[in-house]
Amino acid sequence: MKQLVFATSNANKVKEIQHIMGAAYNFLSLDDIECTEDIPETQATIKGNALQKARYVYQNYGKNCFAEDTGLLIESLKGAPGVYSARYAGPQKNASDNMNKVLEQLQNVENRQAYFKTVIALIIDGQEHTFEGRVDGEILLDRRGEGGFGYDPIFKPKESNQSFAEMSATQKDQISHRARATAKLKSFLAKTV
Ligand code: IMP
Repeated sequence: MKQLVFATSNANKVKEIQHIMGAAYNFLSLDDIECTEDIPETQATIKGNALQKARYVYQNYGKNCFAEDTGLLIESLKGAPGVYSARYAGPQKNASDNMNKVLEQLQNVENRQAYFKTVIALIIDGQEHTFEGRVDGEILLDRRGEGGFGYDPIFKPKESNQSFAEMSATQKDQISHRARATAKLKSFLAKTV
């Protein structure tokens, strides 16, 4: 069976991808390859960060791998928080603080258009491929819902009347940026097995 490293230390993310992809590949986490150091994410774009993480693993561990990076891009904030989504309100990377900052910045702002973007960077035998998933929507006036994580309570995709945090995981997975990028990865891998 082919092996593919997912450059994350989140075991749940690896389990999830294994479930989505089926048995053709055996997915390994960073812990599985004994990569315990912090991988640098210093690029100015989401795609740049995804590539940086995948290249780090490929160059230092010699394994085929992929990495993902995600950001929320808000039109009237000129694409912020974008690549800084995780640490928008500070290095503590706190979701509640991040949402408060966005809601404050959008007070009395009419244009609330925003989108989530995920880029997956894959390196197989030295060849680089990237897959992008995007979901368009708007930033709500207040938080809605208890589910999900990150910015989910303040983001409503245009396909729905519910915020991401009001949806079940299954509903969110049908339209989410990450699900869309993962679907592209899946169809690419299916062709290369
Ligand atoms: P990461 O690239 O997965 O670390 O995500 C970067 C930032 O975007 C973090 O603050 C996450 O909480 C946030 N984020 C990523 N995916 C989602 C999502 O599906 N919903 C809400 N926030 C997200």
